[in-house]
Amino acid sequence: MDEKILKHLRDWFKENAANLPWRPTDIDAKRDPYAVWISETMLQQTQVSTVKDYFVRWMERFPDIETLAKTSEEEVFRYWQGLGYYSRARNILKTARIVAKAGGKFPQTRKELESLPGIGAYTAGAILSLALHKREAILDGNLVRIFSRFYALDFLPVGKAAETYWEYARMVADSPKAYMHNEALMELGRTICKSKVPECKACPLASGCRAYSDERTEDFPPKKTRVQKEWHGTALVIESADGKILAVSTGQAFLRGQLALPHFETQKNATVGIPPQAERYIDSDRVASVKDCGAFRHGITVHKIECRVLHIKLKYKATKSRFTWVSKDVARDVFANSFSLKALKLALD
Ligand code: SF4
Repeated sequence: MDEKILKHLRDWFKENAANLPWRPTDIDAKRDPYAVWISETMLQQTQVSTVKDYFVRWMERFPDIETLAKTSEEEVFRYWQGLGYYSRARNILKTARIVAKAGGKFPQTRKELESLPGIGAYTAGAILSLALHKREAILDGNLVRIFSRFYALDFLPVGKAAETYWEYARMVADSPKAYMHNEALMELGRTICKSKVPECKACPLASGCRAYSDERTEDFPPKKTRVQKEWHGTALVIESADGKILAVSTGQAFLRGQLALPHFETQKNATVGIPPQAERYIDSDRVASVKDCGAFRHGITVHKIECRVLHIKLKYKATKSRFTWVSKDVARDVFANSFSLKALKLALD
């Protein structure tokens, strides 16, 4: 999301931010970390409309962490009754006692926060971002749904694939206004980019949203978990004696028929020399040199790629064949995929 889109988002939020008991009238104001922690914990698995009254009653009875720390578990449970998932209330009390014992000041780093009972990556990010205005990323179900649609991500944040979603969350948070971007996205997910039918016409992100422009909002996020796939392979930079590079338009599905360098799947630690798969492109008896240029890493949709690059120089000129030969000088303009560009960089720079 570029600054233009983020500005649309901020403007939308300033106009549309709902009046909620844990949200100050001035949406630019810093907040009490205690109140953010309580509201965000209550909101896990519970609707905003339900949480409102619980939050107000809670803050009247336990206005600060010291008061809460001195309360019995039985009484805390009474104020939680009806919200379910009582382990959340039990952890809140444990954490309150730990923080009160340490002087009552809420920790201000992600590491310290995540070491407390019941505070995970999401809640820690929310406390640091919404309360203290730190440039911290958060990722909840609302943001996952928005990122999946906005960037047309056809996989869920499961296992290693979660890192892709966190990267987008960090991009949103890399700004002095991170607190507003995070909260605005949560609100947008709740009110506009809803799971069943998103209201794209009213959405401040619409001008950059891939799912919307492709009319595929119902395809994202995907219903089933698609696990990230690892792909180890080799790409060939085959250079003819007259300075041309061989290109193909067939290969792995992740390049979808684009003009690319020849590539194929190989063992992670492939042996040296010309691989047998290269022989479909070249006459291996007329090779001038073979250089192993190292490997690059790359990510395309669900594919996590690690690719070794071989630069093969031929003794003969480019011939008319079923392959395309591209002049070395313009190769970087002709190959329009970063998979091939990364391989070219390793071989030719
Ligand atoms: S344009 Fe539609 S699908 Fe895209 S983020 Fe906005 S509401 Fe969601």
